[in-house]
Amino acid sequence: MIIGMSFIVCTFIFALMIAIIYFAKKHVDTIETKLYNYILIISVINMIIEFTLCTNILLGVPLFSFYNLLINKLFLVTLFTWFTLFTIYIICVSGLLKLKNKVLNRIILYYILMVIILVLLPLELVNENGVAYSTGIATYFLYGICVAYALIWLIIIFKGKKKLGKKVIPFVAFIVCLTVMLVARALIPGLLLNSFSSAFATILMYFTIENPDIKMIEQLNIAREQAERANAAKTDFLSNMSHEIRTPLNAIVGFSNLLLDDREIPDKAKDGVRDIVMASDNLLEIVNGILDISKIEANKLEIVNSEYSTKKILDELVSLCHGRLGEKPIEFKTNFDATIPAVLYGDAGRIKQICVNILTNAIKYTKEGWIEFKISSVIKDNICRLIISVEDTGIGIKEKNIDKLFNKFERLDLEENVTIEGTGLGLAITKKLVDLMHGKIVVQSVFGKGSKFTVCIDQRIVKNPTIKVESEKHYDEIQVKNKRVLLVDDNKINLKVAERLLASYGIETESIESGFECIDKIKTGNKYDLIMLDDMMPKMSGVETLKKLKLIDGFNMKVVALTANALTGMREKYLNEGFDDYLAKPINKDELNKIINKYLNSD
Ligand code: ADP
Repeated sequence: MIIGMSFIVCTFIFALMIAIIYFAKKHVDTIETKLYNYILIISVINMIIEFTLCTNILLGVPLFSFYNLLINKLFLVTLFTWFTLFTIYIICVSGLLKLKNKVLNRIILYYILMVIILVLLPLELVNENGVAYSTGIATYFLYGICVAYALIWLIIIFKGKKKLGKKVIPFVAFIVCLTVMLVARALIPGLLLNSFSSAFATILMYFTIENPDIKMIEQLNIAREQAERANAAKTDFLSNMSHEIRTPLNAIVGFSNLLLDDREIPDKAKDGVRDIVMASDNLLEIVNGILDISKIEANKLEIVNSEYSTKKILDELVSLCHGRLGEKPIEFKTNFDATIPAVLYGDAGRIKQICVNILTNAIKYTKEGWIEFKISSVIKDNICRLIISVEDTGIGIKEKNIDKLFNKFERLDLEENVTIEGTGLGLAITKKLVDLMHGKIVVQSVFGKGSKFTVCIDQRIVKNPTIKVESEKHYDEIQVKNKRVLLVDDNKINLKVAERLLASYGIETESIESGFECIDKIKTGNKYDLIMLDDMMPKMSGVETLKKLKLIDGFNMKVVALTANALTGMREKYLNEGFDDYLAKPINKDELNKIINKYLNSD
């Protein structure tokens, strides 16, 4: 009896400590955790009752007294409660059953019924040579329930072992412990191990499954995975959307540009068309921004380095700024260091994008005064540090807002700037791009007076450039004779845009709507000076079509990828796939000029 009691006392103290630690911590609110709360409480109560039973005997409380009988019955009920809770818990953890209200109501009904039976069934108390224990129908009934439960546990462990994983440990340990207890109890009836085995399982469950810290980490991991999945879905959605937007935009930009070149259209109508072009340019910039931010979030934005002419980029930037300044009373000053090398190695497109973003902001947020676009360079060995600054006399930024500048979708003082268009993406993208290029961006601003954005980026100097340095010619008036281009695109409007654009150069076109038709045309001996092939076509993509074309004997026509898939790195992707060149939709007139001049202008 004394050994049994010391067992109970030790386990009780330990279980109590676990209970205190457990309830002192914050836990995640799940059904399993709620069940475990009850399991832990019932475990402690169980031991208190068993301890009371023992002390009753030591204190000489009459064995057959009503009080003793009541405590014994209570003990059976709490033991049954523990087993039932444990069984529901194991079912929940294994994921084999979802505890819905209907199921829960049935379980409660079953529990109440069983408790009534247990209380009503007769219980015998025995005292054999100072060793007291309970027996009788109520006890055997409980044992019977235990055996049925054990069978359920075994089935669950076997069926749900994959989902349970490591969680199976306390359950198996408990079954082993319970078997040992039953055998020991059969051999030595006075051995008090009932509540010990349940407490032992409860403690093991704490260490392996229910420790709030483990649970919290598990829940955090689940939440992180869910957030990552949702973010990936959002990224996919955004890039699909921007692809979808680009396609109609191609028609708007293409047809408006054609109208601008049309001599028969009155000047008044042309003004309207110019506004359409400007609005679609803005829309395209927004779509590109969304695409960039989703790429940045998916860690897919890459810096693609190549040689580039610094003069060409600066010329393009200056002319873009003049266009955007329009009629605003702002003096646009430039100050470019003469020491800037003519050819540098880096991602010209992204450097340009950074400059465009901060220059456009300066123009947007300045009503009058001046804007200075300054670039100086510091040269060390073969590295040129470009120090690009854009200073304005605009509205300035409040000091408290400087930290928020680079947050995505964050626009400052929205009420005051309500008339200025923007998405709040420009600076977030700029910062990411600067970081990706291992550069720095600094903002100085006085609210109401103006701002200065400074960007430092290192670029490699190219001593023996492989590209031509002189600024690009404009080919506005190219006219091409006797050239045939095959246009392949599943979208009829896109075909129409391309036909009309090419016709304005005097180029003959033939339009077809699938890769299959394209292969047929070439196989049947048709000859073209150029093929413009859309990539995203149903059934057979442009890339697949090109692969099949290249398998045709003697095929040596030039093929340009024509696609709305205008992410960064796409040019390289398409060139790697075997295309000769790449043209993004909406078709940019200058880019089209370059392609025509390169492949169709025999002069
Ligand atoms: P937006 O599309 O709104 O211009 P940005 O990310 O480019 O988004 O800029 C974020 C915010 O920073 C802007 O909404 C504006 O309030 C502020 N900001 C950026 N550049 C300037 C500037 N040169 N002068 C004043 N405020 C600026």
